[in-house]
Amino acid sequence: MNAVSAGGPRLLLRRLHEAMAGPGSAQQRLDYITRIIAANLVAEVCSVYVARRGDVLELYSTEGLSAEAVHLTQLKFGEGLIGTIAASAEVLNLTEAASHPKFVYRPETHEEIYHSFLGVPILHGGRVIGVLAVQNRTERHYAQEEVEALQTISMVLAEMVGSGDLIDPEELSDGESVRRQPHRRQGMSLSEGIAFGTVVLHEPRIHVDKLIAEDAEQERRRLSKGISELRTTIEGMLSSPAMAFDGEHREVLEAYKMFAYDVGWSRRLEEAVDSGLTAEAAVERIQSEDRSRMDRVEDPYLRERLHDLEDLAHRLLRHLTGRAGTAAHNNLPEDAIVVARAMGPAELLDYDRKRLRGVALEEGAPTSHVAIVARALDLPLVGRVDGLLERADEGDHMVIDGDTGQVIIQPSEEVVAAYSESMKLRAAKQAEYAAHRTEKAVTRDGVEISLQMNAGLLVDLPHLEETGADGIGLFRTELQFMVSATLPRLQVQADLYSAVLDAAADRPVVFRTLDIGSDKVVPYIRRTKEENPALGWRAVRLALDRPALLRYQIRALLMAAAGRQLNFMFPMVTDVSEFLAARAMLDKEVDRFERLGRDLPARTRVGCMLEVPALAWQLKNLLPHLDFVSIGSNDLIQFLFAWDRNNPRIANRYEVLSPMVLSFMRDIIIKCDAAGVPVSLCGEMSGHPVEAMALIGLGLRTLSMAASSLGPVKMMIRRLDAGELASHLPGLMESQNRSVREELCGFAEAHGVPI
Ligand code: PEP
Ligand code: MG
Repeated sequence: MNAVSAGGPRLLLRRLHEAMAGPGSAQQRLDYITRIIAANLVAEVCSVYVARRGDVLELYSTEGLSAEAVHLTQLKFGEGLIGTIAASAEVLNLTEAASHPKFVYRPETHEEIYHSFLGVPILHGGRVIGVLAVQNRTERHYAQEEVEALQTISMVLAEMVGSGDLIDPEELSDGESVRRQPHRRQGMSLSEGIAFGTVVLHEPRIHVDKLIAEDAEQERRRLSKGISELRTTIEGMLSSPAMAFDGEHREVLEAYKMFAYDVGWSRRLEEAVDSGLTAEAAVERIQSEDRSRMDRVEDPYLRERLHDLEDLAHRLLRHLTGRAGTAAHNNLPEDAIVVARAMGPAELLDYDRKRLRGVALEEGAPTSHVAIVARALDLPLVGRVDGLLERADEGDHMVIDGDTGQVIIQPSEEVVAAYSESMKLRAAKQAEYAAHRTEKAVTRDGVEISLQMNAGLLVDLPHLEETGADGIGLFRTELQFMVSATLPRLQVQADLYSAVLDAAADRPVVFRTLDIGSDKVVPYIRRTKEENPALGWRAVRLALDRPALLRYQIRALLMAAAGRQLNFMFPMVTDVSEFLAARAMLDKEVDRFERLGRDLPARTRVGCMLEVPALAWQLKNLLPHLDFVSIGSNDLIQFLFAWDRNNPRIANRYEVLSPMVLSFMRDIIIKCDAAGVPVSLCGEMSGHPVEAMALIGLGLRTLSMAASSLGPVKMMIRRLDAGELASHLPGLMESQNRSVREELCGFAEAHGVPI
């Protein structure tokens, strides 16, 4: 029979709790508690160390060691066995203490006669505020049950130390030396930009104050209700339509579900409640046990599952405490960096943008909806940061480097200074761009370029004024569908389009009809797995096969643009017949509006995106039907080179500025010009100054790009002599090189054009 069960853990906890609330000074009560623990664990020594400011562990009470050592013996975090426990927040269970490499001997304690040692951290709100240790003369190994008993007891001490009775909370260590270690983690850039601020956990950790149960039966009932509510919530999330096809997020939820129904997990929780803890304290106990297990697991898959378990415990705590919301409506610091495992777009939009500096996620992909929204908000976002939640804590400082995809937790002053410098440079540039906001983008030789912006959500619209864009050259209508959990109804669609037209006032807006499929996943449209989704059932192909979607969208557009000009275009058209079929749907809807006597747009212009190379050889037949052409260079170049635009392994493999691409673009521009059909370009290419410069040299006069690119491109244009560049280009197009980037950069440098 082992030592702990002698009095039974419940009985022990009750006695400790009574002692805590009993008479005498805090120090007297602590000394009494120390004696009870020693007696109950049949240990010759029991010592309590409290972590004071400056990360010093001070012996506060002891049974067995020399009384003179109390308030005299001090160890730094990381020093000796006690300091090692504090620094790692882990248990140390040793048969022979002196053989541990970190052992240090303090003569005033007279501890040389003790061999075995068991110490556990005293944790409060996720912070180490002390260490509890027992020692024995014999070389014994403490059993797992004894370790667990000591951990439970340490929670009682946490309550006492944390209450401020024993020590002024201001005097307690804030774990500086442990947390101040700067820590850099590599993730993936999902939205560019740099941010520095204070960590806010999207799902706040709950601090459990009441640890000891007054009514064990009631705690058992609360736990079982909490678990069953948790199961219902997870089932509900799994069956929501938004979850139907969201692969990654669904997998996580499936894992949650598995654990939520795991009998082993609920049994361990019940046992912790049986030992006398409140339901919340039981969850915290099991969670800290799992956390220490997690640190020892190397296998990435298992670690991931233990992570899931940790998340699940957080969720259960939130059910038990009734605090279910995210941090969005809490008191946010002025410089919040939101940290989460995963996040939906609507959850991100819930935060006050004025206080939000950046976001870091453990999950996420470039095409995830949260990334799309972050880019629209111009908010730096780094995703796929492994182990982020293990490292980052509420209130930590953090740098988000959305350019290189790194996060730095508790950065050093030098690192902050370096980033502040680059943030200042960026801000200065932005101010310079803003100062030129109202000026036209005219080249030195008088060629006027229309600079427009790409948009897709309401949050994009303020950028129109901020950048001084001439209009919206590409409104990606699918984004509204992608960030919505259910299919947006006709009126909801029309309201968005109408708001866009209102915001643009007399500036033109080009709406692109739904471009879904491939990487643009819409949760409520059931899809079958495709071998090559980018070449598959997407965009106008899907719209023609499922005409109701396109028909409703056209209706919404006609409603929103009543009495105003409507410009719209179809994506991914591959041959003329597809364009004509889509166009026929528009004509049918216009006829219907006329029949019903409804107001129509004052003028409707219909264009086509040029994204499939095959269409470039059909321009002769296509152009007579068109009001304008918009080159979608992202897809066009992807298909031209057979070059997956979303595959990071081949991201830099081919060159956009190759003689082939330039000649290809030139031919398209010449054909459109000859037919008198306006042509523009709305892919990423127009947002990079060197590429934009080349396009202007080839004869393009309208470019549409991300709002943040407008400033740099305009600065380039205002220093460019378009005529001189145009005469320089034919020579470059004859080049045998695979890239003419260097030559173009050389031209810019020689002519003082900022790129
Ligand atoms: C393009 O392909 O260039 C384009 C603008 O469309 P998207 O990036 O939305 O596919
Ligand atoms: Mg495209």
